[in-house]
Amino acid sequence: MKTADLVVIGSGPGGYVACLRAAQLGMKVICVESRPTLGGTCLNIGCIPSKALLHSSHLYEEITHHSHDHGFAISTIKLQLDKMMARKQSIVTKNTRGIEYLFKSKHIEHIHGHGWFDHNSLAADGRRITSVKQEGGSTTQITSQYVVIATGSTPRQLPELAPFDHNVICSSEDALSFTNVPKKLAVIGGGVIGLELGTVWHRLGADVEIYETAATLLPTMDQSLSTFILKHLKKSGIKFHLQATVSSIKTSANKATLQFKLPDQSMQEASFDKVLISVGRAPNTHGLGLASLAPSQLTDTGGRIIVDSGFATKAPGIYAIGDVIQGPMLAHKAEAEGVAVAELLAGKPSYLNYQTIPNVVYTWPELAAVGLTLKQLQERKIPVTKSSFSLRGNARAKVWGEDGGFINMYSHPESDQILGAHLASPHASELIAEIGLAMNFQATAEDIYRTCHAHPSVSEAIKEAALGCDHQTLHN
Ligand code: FAD
Repeated sequence: MKTADLVVIGSGPGGYVACLRAAQLGMKVICVESRPTLGGTCLNIGCIPSKALLHSSHLYEEITHHSHDHGFAISTIKLQLDKMMARKQSIVTKNTRGIEYLFKSKHIEHIHGHGWFDHNSLAADGRRITSVKQEGGSTTQITSQYVVIATGSTPRQLPELAPFDHNVICSSEDALSFTNVPKKLAVIGGGVIGLELGTVWHRLGADVEIYETAATLLPTMDQSLSTFILKHLKKSGIKFHLQATVSSIKTSANKATLQFKLPDQSMQEASFDKVLISVGRAPNTHGLGLASLAPSQLTDTGGRIIVDSGFATKAPGIYAIGDVIQGPMLAHKAEAEGVAVAELLAGKPSYLNYQTIPNVVYTWPELAAVGLTLKQLQERKIPVTKSSFSLRGNARAKVWGEDGGFINMYSHPESDQILGAHLASPHASELIAEIGLAMNFQATAEDIYRTCHAHPSVSEAIKEAALGCDHQTLHN
């Protein structure tokens, strides 16, 4: 039997960061991971490969459609998808090896296998026993004071319509590794993953149609962003079917035929080479043996593990973080919880402000948001000053050839504190950190606009939006 202070099941951004922080604070840590490589969904089949393909496909689109604007006369450009995929994979490998290196340097042991609990997982001395089933069928057991479950999530299927066959009916993981550009791609679900991967394949030449049951895209984001991106992507050539319910999918010889109902109740049919199902993700508690852990139910009705404010589950000694618990399924949320749980277990105070977790969509321009949406402010009857700064008044956006975006900022009319900000802008993923920081420090719009911002930069548009909270924008 192996011994540790802490066992972490799962090496995604939640799990591996918990391991690093706990080891830094002096704990003996063992990480159990069922994938052959570390880094979880995020590094292997999520954030990183999708952003690599978004970047490559953005360059491809820029070169094919805008090279003449810059004075380049390029007569032929040939897409070598295999090379693009190889680049993506090398970025993934560098990142996953980076975690291996960090584990070694911090003396964190990593066991490759499936972690789970049996009926005897609580030892007489109160320590927990985690079983790990390894390749070849052997089982290792580890006793530890604490266990953190960080097993993440997996793509939801639509089994009543068509389960994944990983050829025509595809998951996000499949859509990160297509070997050919599909002629026609249907995306079911207009959330972040559907929009990002739909964008990648559209840029590379596929006819993309997105089916969404709701009336708007990205329902958790500010309406201004959802309206903006719908218009922008439609203009680029992606076709949208909103309030459309896909009622059947029939597959035959490398084709799928979708039947869908439109808001006027009429039924339509369309055929595709590939269908990407991106209708959300399910918490991954499969095979953990949770039922054997506690007399009461450990999960909520959505299957997520219930935790208290210190990440403790109802089973003594067992904690949970990341996608497998409540909250937005985001890598940086999982990571922040990884730090917090390690600090709490090491007896240190820790804190995570859930109100300032940013949300980003990596289309071009990017969308980024932090804090409350206008709808949430109105529903909560919070008084608000609205400011909107168009990127038409920003010189750097023009340099990037992208001045159609905006920065919307909401502040409190009395305190002047920032309540939320919603950006449609090049590199919005980088810009949003300033506003998150300001909100964490309860800064006012005036604090932001009295901070000198570099010129020329799109960050000046944030300063302008803050000025707008005092009705005094300079460049709009
Ligand atoms: P995961 O990263 O899912 O890691 C869990 C790990 O646990 C996995 O490696 C799994 O193999 C392992 N595991 C599960 N069960 C066991 C077991 N019993 N024993 C051993 N190991 C086990 N988020 C963002 O913030 N930004 C983005 O841009 C972004 N893009 C995304 C793009 C795509 C295509 C996808 C699919 C997701 C994206 N996400 C993004 C979401 C992000 O990947 C997740 O929120 C994040 O990975 C969750 O981290 P986690 O540590 O909770 O779990």
